[in-house]
Amino acid sequence: MKKKILITGGAGYIGSHVNKMLSEEGYETVVLDNLSKGHEEFIKWGVFEKADLANMAEVEAVFKKYDIGAVIHFAAFIEVGESVKDPELFYKNNLKNTLNLLEVCRKFNVDKFIFSSTAAVYGMPVYTPIDEIHPKSPISPYGRAKLMVEEILKDYSDSYSFNYVALRYFNASGASIDLDIGEWHEPESHLIPLIFDAVSGKRQDIKIFGTDYDTQDGTCVRDYIHVLDLAEAHILALEYLLSGGKSDCFNLGNGKGYSVRQVIDMVKKVTGKEFMITESERRPGDPSVLIASSKKISEKLSWKPKYGLEEIVKSAWQWYRKKEKLI
Ligand code: UDP
Repeated sequence: MKKKILITGGAGYIGSHVNKMLSEEGYETVVLDNLSKGHEEFIKWGVFEKADLANMAEVEAVFKKYDIGAVIHFAAFIEVGESVKDPELFYKNNLKNTLNLLEVCRKFNVDKFIFSSTAAVYGMPVYTPIDEIHPKSPISPYGRAKLMVEEILKDYSDSYSFNYVALRYFNASGASIDLDIGEWHEPESHLIPLIFDAVSGKRQDIKIFGTDYDTQDGTCVRDYIHVLDLAEAHILALEYLLSGGKSDCFNLGNGKGYSVRQVIDMVKKVTGKEFMITESERRPGDPSVLIASSKKISEKLSWKPKYGLEEIVKSAWQWYRKKEKLI
């Protein structure tokens, strides 16, 4: 029987897209999720095991039940601001629970691991585009916990028979083209869905966090990458590990930067609607420009992004209208 791919956090935004794509490509998946943040209705592929990474017995039971060939680990809290308010929560969930998962992997001889990392491991950029050797100096417990996990993975890989790929995401966005699943956080904190809330009247306005940055229009520049391009990179990383590839880490971004105003303009173009825009204070900890160099993953895994900002906003808008029952 074919070995299964275990996806932790497979009910979440990126995990569910990866689960969908893996299933479409013929992989058999097991989703492990405690549904604390994810959406059960996003688990439409593979089998589902409700389990909590804080509970070793529950995790071991899943590994006992299925023949797992590799793990893709998404399950984590994602709110940077919340990590500053309550670091313990983040170190328990994002660090300690990952160690639990790794312990079970070792116990069951699962030696291939893909880790959801983040551009936040770099902290304030010293130069852009940011490549993988850029200094790592995270400025939040969220970023620090992710970097600590990367360092643990490296130690595992150096000392045990174990290989991993860490994927450092820039700004994941967009939705699946057939609108099965999309971005849905409660409460919402990401720019594109927040702009849609202003479009639909769910919120009064969209606040631009800072208009005095040293950028072309004074607003922050970010590298928005379509969730389907991200999902594709996970498949390539999995194929790489399954064919004997050694541990490595890769940035994942489009390599193009868009300012907050440019994103707002794209939403206006795609939706054809006007909405209220309020110039507001800077958000603490926001670097002015975050752009990835994805050269390494392009060269080593032949990954190439297919989608640009317009497709990101179009798919995200279609999904938002479906979710909010506007269509
Ligand atoms: N942003 C904004 N208004 C909002 C939310 C976000 O101006 O209501 C800006 C934020 O300062 C950042 C960019 O939009 O420059 C993307 O923010 P998001 O929280 O989506 O992702 P992050 O870059 O923090 O991972």
